[in-house]
Amino acid sequence: MSRAERSVAMPATVDLSARDHLLRSDRQEDICFGLWRSSKGQTRTTALIERLILPREGERNVHGNASFEPVYLERAMAEAAAAEAGLALLHSHPLGRGWQGLSEDDVFAEQSNAGAVYGATGKPFVGLTLAGNGAWSARFWERTAPRTYPGTWCASVRVVGDRLAVTFMDKLAPIPRSTEEQIRTVSAWGEESQANLARLRVGVIGAGSVGGMIAEALVRTGFEDVTLIDFDIVKKHNLDRLNYAIRSDIGRLKVDVLAQHLRERATAANFKVFPVEAAVYEEKGYRAALDCDLLFSCVDRPWGRHVLNLIAFSHLIPVIDGGIHVRANRLGKLAAADWRAHTATIGRACLQCIGQYDPGHVQLEREGMLDDPKYIEGLPKGHPLKSRENVFAFSMSCASLQTLQMLALVLAPLDLPNPGSQLYHFVGGDMEEPTFGSCHPECLFPSLIGLGDTSGVSATGERPRNAGEL
Ligand SMILES: [Zn+2]
Ligand SMILES: [Zn+2]
Repeated sequence: MSRAERSVAMPATVDLSARDHLLRSDRQEDICFGLWRSSKGQTRTTALIERLILPREGERNVHGNASFEPVYLERAMAEAAAAEAGLALLHSHPLGRGWQGLSEDDVFAEQSNAGAVYGATGKPFVGLTLAGNGAWSARFWERTAPRTYPGTWCASVRVVGDRLAVTFMDKLAPIPRSTEEQIRTVSAWGEESQANLARLRVGVIGAGSVGGMIAEALVRTGFEDVTLIDFDIVKKHNLDRLNYAIRSDIGRLKVDVLAQHLRERATAANFKVFPVEAAVYEEKGYRAALDCDLLFSCVDRPWGRHVLNLIAFSHLIPVIDGGIHVRANRLGKLAAADWRAHTATIGRACLQCIGQYDPGHVQLEREGMLDDPKYIEGLPKGHPLKSRENVFAFSMSCASLQTLQMLALVLAPLDLPNPGSQLYHFVGGDMEEPTFGSCHPECLFPSLIGLGDTSGVSATGERPRNAGEL
């Protein structure tokens, strides 16, 4: 499977207005421009379509094929330059199905204007085609030498909202052939759903007990491309909970041990795992996360969650988050064990609004306070930052809920992609009514949707000296 270097993503709201404009009732092709922002991963650059620039009267011609007048391109280039954004040209193939190739007219419309667009914006011209069945395809026209702008195909286009819908370019992201090991899985939801799932690039942030179990579920299900991000090593007191580690692994990097475990268990014919020794709040871990289409948040600290929250909204990569909280009474007996699972994505509440982290604690963690035994010791009893208790079965249940959140988001069985924000109580054995909120009106994150590297929020930094010691 190719680790292709370009992709495009857009919020579901932009997809909706593009369909509205481009898929006409008279079945003719139509055209419009859009602004894009860069999301630069370690190996992949994604153009995030932030908004459309719809044509005004007389700016484009619809005549079976669609074309634009120079005045429309000039207006669009001026808007892109003023916004310091890139420019994209979107058009439709109403009779097409799936990923679309380029006609000679398409190549001409995009390539012959790539120089002017580069001159105005300093960025590649991005072309997108919308097929009649809603599938997108995309390419970058990048300057490689003076007056030379060859086209590079994207491997995928993802539409991110209440569900995650990705169109893949089969040549760059080939349809996986399902293996004999996967017969029972594939017969549960069919070849097409399996191909949509297996080709997603998934990142697991945090290789603890929950992350380890989610990763194993992914690779047994047939996912082909898994990135693991964690800086910690296996310790003796992890062995009661890590599904992938044994005594002789003590002292080795968690991501290395887990990667080896996954290679031995993956059912995909073409499986790749990318272990990254870093925290997601470090530049290296952050950029590796931006290479993914979907992320699992299996961290238990505020800074990592804050960074992942930013990624979910600014970079259009849905984040499935969860967490476990165990409480003992004064006699040291179990009084409560609760775990939750939810998905941070466009249109749903962010991790801060759900209450999964306190922004004040992010600063404390950056300053190293949360890795200072004296500071933690001084916190009141029952403080969430103090709670380190966990049990294999709790992790299993939480990992399962998070994996199910992901399956619902991608497969949307019976058009139901959103199970809501879930909270399970071990004591009493009941799942609360799920909640379906969105962000508070004063929340910052919805205003950062699709801004990518230009969000103006710098969330990464240096790892505190004693991180992971406690
Ligand atoms: Zn075309
Ligand atoms: Zn929010």
